[in-house]
Amino acid sequence: SKAKLFDQNTDVKTSFKDVAGLEGAKEEVQEIVDFLKNPDKYTALGGKIPKGALLVGPPGTGKTLLAKAVAGEAKVPFFSLSGSDFVEMFVGVGASRVRDLFKQAKEKSPAIIFIDEIDAIGRARGKSNFSGSNDERENTLNQLLTEMDGFGTNTNVIVIAATNRADVLDKALMRAGRFDRQIYVDLPDVRERQEIFDVHLRPLKKVADELDTEFMAKQTPGFSGADIANVCNEAALIAARQGKTAVGKQDFLDAVDRIVGGLEKKNKIIT
Ligand code: ATP
Repeated sequence: SKAKLFDQNTDVKTSFKDVAGLEGAKEEVQEIVDFLKNPDKYTALGGKIPKGALLVGPPGTGKTLLAKAVAGEAKVPFFSLSGSDFVEMFVGVGASRVRDLFKQAKEKSPAIIFIDEIDAIGRARGKSNFSGSNDERENTLNQLLTEMDGFGTNTNVIVIAATNRADVLDKALMRAGRFDRQIYVDLPDVRERQEIFDVHLRPLKKVADELDTEFMAKQTPGFSGADIANVCNEAALIAARQGKTAVGKQDFLDAVDRIVGGLEKKNKIIT
């Protein structure tokens, strides 16, 4: 089959401006941007540039966004793949596909490889999972570790992985020289939610003047950045459906109700 192994974006437009809040995480990944831009400066005294960083946090908190912003800020290609797609699509050939991915990234280096849902590949070995054969998954994981260990000091490919289940990961992934940096990406607090609203209001054509994003932030405890992006988009659709010429406060509140309804349903299915 010719299923797509990974996405490759050589002209990433995402920057840190697109990532609201997450000040601590942004500071930590800024270092990765510097490594990619000025590797020689960092290796001058014999130090080794880290090969991997693990972004840990709940779904929809901006892990993918942040990784993409690193590539955008450093102006390097962004290779991305999802661990769960990978395990499902490449039965029998996972290890060789990992080899291909790293080969291409090295050819285009400096570069970022981003692996979303690394837990689908990187679950502790010997523990069963739901999808795919376990041997197969272990082969893929072993190949990933081999590739990372095989990076020379001047490869300048940095692997960023994301998970919301750091607890199930194989400890071998966290060993020195692999994903030895862990960066926490938490749900936003009220101030950060306000900033996320501000970012996601930008693409809306017309927002009624009275929209108070501080008020909206207070109405949305527990929402992730993805939920807030969803609220803004839904509000624009609700207003448009009613033939309004601007998105107003009530449209945002209706959108919040709708998203809360969706979240409750989702939680019911999970628990
Ligand atoms: P998952 O674990 O579900 O893959 P994630 O943490 O990778 O989630 P993203 O895919 O980065 O989350 O977020 C989804 C969308 O939500 C983003 O494309 C963006 O529109 C919005 N979003 C999330 N967090 C933020 C943030 N901190 N600032 C601005 N937008 C955000």
